[in-house]
Amino acid sequence: MGYIDLHLHTTASDGVMSPSEIVRYAKTKGLQAIAITDHDTIEGLGEGLSEGERIGLEVIPGIEISAEHSPGSMHLLGYLFDIDHPLLKDRLAHLQKARAERNPKIVEKLNRLGIKVSYEEVAKVSGGGQVGRPHFAQVLLDKGYVRSFQEAFDRFLKKGAPAYAEKFRFKATEALHFIQEANGVVALAHPKTLGLNGYSELESFLLQLVKDGLKGLEVYYPEHSALEVSHYKTLAERCGLVITGGTDYHYHGLEGNGLDIGVGRGEMRLPYSIVVELKAIRNRSLPPGR
Ligand code: AMP
Ligand code: ZN
Ligand code: FE
Ligand code: FE
Repeated sequence: MGYIDLHLHTTASDGVMSPSEIVRYAKTKGLQAIAITDHDTIEGLGEGLSEGERIGLEVIPGIEISAEHSPGSMHLLGYLFDIDHPLLKDRLAHLQKARAERNPKIVEKLNRLGIKVSYEEVAKVSGGGQVGRPHFAQVLLDKGYVRSFQEAFDRFLKKGAPAYAEKFRFKATEALHFIQEANGVVALAHPKTLGLNGYSELESFLLQLVKDGLKGLEVYYPEHSALEVSHYKTLAERCGLVITGGTDYHYHGLEGNGLDIGVGRGEMRLPYSIVVELKAIRNRSLPPGR
């Protein structure tokens, strides 16, 4: 069995490779399967799935959804859902609308701070996919308003910074619901970013999500230390969750951080058996006859 990567972004959201490029790149790296998990959108999946079929690499339908959570951030990864499911499509259209309402507010706030940025410039660097804050950061960098991508977030775009604008998010229970209705399985992404106090708090948090249908935990992630990985692994086992992982490869403003698809910073080797487990769970919960 080969290796996999279950957390990747493309130009459909804020990655810099198109879905077909990332599929071909994964193939050159010798991976057996990848999941494309763009933020709030499945627009890249059609292209990714057909390229995978063409070159012989398994592409798993995926998505990363930001859920309501404070003060940290909570991202849910959906896998193996039906990409044409009407409820899923409806819920995602809602997120697109929320984003379309938020982005001009960021432009306005930047303009009021004396920064000359237009929505058109930002849309241009997004490469035609969904527009997000990383694209704003790129424009601020390109125009010399900041010296680094990270500085753009720290000074202007991050939560609490002067050009930050709120955007609607689903509650975790809602996201869990519509992904499962579309016959998908859900894993909690990078538990580290939740900002919880210690592992016992995280365990209670996970057990609550398990009641709402959570099936996996992203244990392997480039920002998790070896010690964190071992704690998360224990927690996943205690909560009955599949141990998943991925690199969160965007290659957007991340040049030079040494992160690569499939391997992270060299420490990751995720076996295909994870996909087998996720599929088994999904197939168990499918309605009879499917
Ligand atoms: P958006 O969905 O448009 O609000 O953009 C969110 C994306 O911006 C995240 O997925 C990250 O890629 C990036 N991001 C958010 N906060 C930060 C931060 N503090 N520093 C760097 N990147 C960030
Ligand atoms: Zn991102
Ligand atoms: Fe995330
Ligand atoms: Fe991500």
